[in-house]
Amino acid sequence: MLSAVARGYQGWFHPCARLSVRMSSTGIDRKGVLANRVAVVTGSTSGIGFAIARRLARDGAHVVISSRKQQNVDRAMAKLQGEGLSVAGIVCHVGKAEDREQLVAKALEHCGGVDFLVCSAGVNPLVGSTLGTSEQIWDKILSVNVKSPALLLSQLLPYMENRRGAVILVSSIAAYNPVVALGVYNVSKTALLGLTRTLALELAPKDIRVNCVVPGIIKTDFSKV
Ligand code: NAP
Repeated sequence: MLSAVARGYQGWFHPCARLSVRMSSTGIDRKGVLANRVAVVTGSTSGIGFAIARRLARDGAHVVISSRKQQNVDRAMAKLQGEGLSVAGIVCHVGKAEDREQLVAKALEHCGGVDFLVCSAGVNPLVGSTLGTSEQIWDKILSVNVKSPALLLSQLLPYMENRRGAVILVSSIAAYNPVVALGVYNVSKTALLGLTRTLALELAPKDIRVNCVVPGIIKTDFSKV
């Protein structure tokens, strides 16, 4: 009886789910495990997004990297292609609808579909108190950190359905332990937890998993502040 139940549920899990934690965390060669899969990673020309893009590409996925500045896209592409990885790149400020459209078009060039979306792009243009924050800064932080993952996903959704895909949103430890002086940034990263849970429910029937990663302090340009 139990084995029949287990067999019944097997189809729900992505092939990656069968990898041990040890394999997925030590960088053991898994080349090919994501072969024929396409990943879009925002904010992926440096820091956490770049590391995620490189990992996915090393595992065999075709990865579309992006960020706001052309020279950063070029530099990151050159680096990854120099490692023999399958990557494409395009400028995309995630807060701009036309940039998101072009990112979607670029992603579809490879095989007409997308399996994974990782939303790493995030901003914190202000270091200060929540109540001292101007409406303009509120709008900027919420637009880039919270709205843009949802809007990009809605643009990609028709091409992600029924491919057993996955979405990863990049939140922050600040979602659970607010950092004094990071004000609205804390709020935006907490909102991402809610977005993750809501989208996970909405997209389960379409066979798309939605999860969130919550990094602590990682030494990048972003965390220098
Ligand atoms: P990072 O090293 O500064 O990299 C940020 C990347 O995002 C760059 O490629 C940047 O390139 C791009 N970017 C910035 N604004 C963008 C926008 N509006 N649209 C598209 N791309 C944009 O930062 P990171 O530390 O890796 O942070 C990545 C994510 O992790 C953020 O969401 C952050 O909140 C989160 N996080 C970081 C830490 C940490 O300690 N580092 C901890 C918790 C959570 P361009 O300049 O070319 O756009």
